Amino acid sequence: MKPNRFQYIAAETIPEALHLLNTHQADVKIISGGQSLMPMLNYRVLSPQYLIDIGRLLELDSIVENAGVIEIGAITRYITIENSSLIQQYLPIMPDVIRHIAHLTIRNRGTIGGSLSHADPASEMPMLMRLLDAHFEIHSENESRIVSSHDFFLGPLHTILKSHELLTKILIKIPLGHLGWAFEEFARRSGDYALAAVGITVEVKSLSGKNLIHQLKIAMMGVGDTPLRLTSIENLMNGEEFSTDLLRQAKENIFNELDPRPDLQSSAEFKKHLASNIFTKVMNTAWERAMMHHSGGVSL
Ligand SMILES: Cc1cc2nc3c(=O)[nH]c(=O)nc-3n(C[C@H](O)[C@H](O)[C@H](O)COP(=O)(O)OP(=O)(O)OC[C@H]3O[C@@H](n4cnc5c(N)ncnc54)[C@H](O)[C@@H]3O)c2cc1C
Repeated sequence: MKPNRFQYIAAETIPEALHLLNTHQADVKIISGGQSLMPMLNYRVLSPQYLIDIGRLLELDSIVENAGVIEIGAITRYITIENSSLIQQYLPIMPDVIRHIAHLTIRNRGTIGGSLSHADPASEMPMLMRLLDAHFEIHSENESRIVSSHDFFLGPLHTILKSHELLTKILIKIPLGHLGWAFEEFARRSGDYALAAVGITVEVKSLSGKNLIHQLKIAMMGVGDTPLRLTSIENLMNGEEFSTDLLRQAKENIFNELDPRPDLQSSAEFKKHLASNIFTKVMNTAWERAMMHHSGGVSL
């Protein structure tokens, strides 16, 4: 199919983009990489009258470090983030996660801001932002605000963004400690959207001769309407010694707590099994890496 007619405007400046959004807010869509929007226009799921292209707003195509915070402009493409030496140095989990997104052609065009604004519950970037406790800078013509990733995602393809607002920047604090991290997902074919995925970061804290789980963060996707943080499991494990018994208990709790919707590819029960099994694998890898950092071993 082909889209309904629309008027295409390529904004040259951020104020111009914000003005256009404000003027046409009842009937406008932003286009960034177009990898999700174009199929929706082609299938006429969406038929906006105005399409505002933000691809020329080059100040939004940047990755910088500012006072311990990595700032990523909203139109920065996956491929740029994956290859950024700053990201590889400070947030090595990010390139690893990005390599799981779709195929190279899509990663060449797709942008971080587009993925977050689209808010597909099976998308990797929203989950990673929840794991890293990212914040988002949002502008409209008359105001700006910073919102936490915790508050940003409201449901499938639904965020707190209003139609006249532009997501401009993603802010991620550089983790201070020596993080162990790991990410795994299960997709039926390489490049497909995943059925479930788990990301973990963790540190080791030595106390009275014991190595304790510290600053554990667990995020999941594909098993809820939004990306999830598993705070009850984090609370269960933080401050404890790592053991197979604790891991088994955590896995059991995850299975009991998750309440995913069944879909065309899998039942709710299958997703619960999948996510809790992936968790075990990811937790083992993240802990191994954290221990290696802690003992001054090779960084991964
Ligand atoms: C075959 C295929 C497979 C895919 N597989 C995966 C996958 O495995 N994992 C995954 O995560 N994604 C996948 N995607 C989606 C891909 O990652 C998209 O690039 C991404 O979801 C959207 O980014 P975009 O820059 O293309 O945004 P666009 O398509 O341009 O926009 C998406 C939505 O966000 C809005 N928007 C864009 N930028 C902003 C902004 N700055 N402020 C406010 N609103 C904005 C748009 O109005 C639109 O509603 C796949 C896509 C295809 C076609």
